[in-house]
Amino acid sequence: MLYLPLPMQSKNPLLSEAAEELQRVLEPTGGPFCTPCCMAATGLTLYEIRKAIRELILVGWLSASMSGCRICHRRAPVAFARLDPFSR
Ligand SMILES: [Zn+2]
Repeated sequence: MLYLPLPMQSKNPLLSEAAEELQRVLEPTGGPFCTPCCMAATGLTLYEIRKAIRELILVGWLSASMSGCRICHRRAPVAFARLDPFSR
């Protein structure tokens, strides 16, 4: 009998690995991080970051606006963790 390891259990089965990675990076401070800083912090591509942001907005974990980035201080579209997400 061959036993295979079970796939890693994700916190939220609705989220992709890219979304979980973005969540992991944003969790300590809550952001706000601009897209280039999200890419640098996660190692994800622009396409993956945009998709991850959409996913996290859909589950109520994240929001986006035009503001100053916490890392590079540029005024840009930024993503930040919601204070009272209805998914938590
Ligand atoms: Zn930035």
